[in-house]
Amino acid sequence: RQAELRQWAKRASVSSDGHRVEIAANIGKLEDVQKALDNGAEAIGLFRTEFLYMGRSELPTEEEQFQSYKYVLEKMAGKPVVIRTLDIGGDKELPYLDLPKESNPFLGQRALRLCLERQDVFRAQLRALLRASRYGNLKIMFPMIAVLEELLEAKRILEEEKTQLVASGVEVSETIEVGMMIEVPSAAVSADLFAKEADFFSIGTNDLIQYTMAADRMNETVSYLYQPCHPSILRLIRHVIDAARAEGKWVGVCGEMAGDLTAIPLLLGLGLHEFSMSAGSILPARERIGSLSHGDWQSLSRQALSLRGHREVQSFVQQQLEGGI
Ligand code: PEP
Ligand code: MG
Repeated sequence: RQAELRQWAKRASVSSDGHRVEIAANIGKLEDVQKALDNGAEAIGLFRTEFLYMGRSELPTEEEQFQSYKYVLEKMAGKPVVIRTLDIGGDKELPYLDLPKESNPFLGQRALRLCLERQDVFRAQLRALLRASRYGNLKIMFPMIAVLEELLEAKRILEEEKTQLVASGVEVSETIEVGMMIEVPSAAVSADLFAKEADFFSIGTNDLIQYTMAADRMNETVSYLYQPCHPSILRLIRHVIDAARAEGKWVGVCGEMAGDLTAIPLLLGLGLHEFSMSAGSILPARERIGSLSHGDWQSLSRQALSLRGHREVQSFVQQQLEGGI
């Protein structure tokens, strides 16, 4: 089985009827890049930069960050690398930042919300990213955006840092795409508004499901509500993809759902461009995509959106797969 899967490491990600998508890897540590390449990742779809900040007693310096980003970009040798700015808060704490205790951290000052408040931290990360940009194909992504003003403010700060760096003689790539995660329901619902301002979207289904279902992703007693194939989630995803399309932007999924073999046919059918997952999921996902007809799943995935619930959608997909579609 392992040998059979290995064959997919060097192949393109194409459906049986020739529709091309991209399969990317999620990484959290520098060692993960090699694993991603070994498994045939075509890109890094999500670099969770939190690891640079965690398990230590002070902020990483700009130089330290620059070296890490440069390493990943160079190692990927021109393949796309989506680096997400700091997503701290929620379940991830940084004791040395001395943040006030919150009664509801997942609904609190998390990720970009914190970065807009602590601009010293944010700006250092952005400078490190901008300086590293000339070593590869960098795309910068902002997490946890709920309203348009947050995206515009983050972009403004990025632009400010870029102008200053360039003025001081630093070389910065002119082709950095700037995108955002869609993981807060408000952003999914208003994706058409965001699509005018973002170069791409990456749907963070782990959080999008948590916030749409109002079910803590860390709380096992409500884990039955983690339902990636529920029509509510699929409808949001469809809306996001259609809205991005209308503006000529691309969309990925970087939550667990991207590597879920039952969800993949639906995501392919809805027109998802990029699937980003942990390295270990890449080969089975590519094999699955190779066995699917994009044309057939375009209509099947839309049928699935009007089924009654998660279970019905899952059995529907299973039936179609068994029928050889
Ligand atoms: C997500 O929310 O789906 C995601 C990819 O981000 P994280 O799991 O790091 O919150
Ligand atoms: Mg998230």
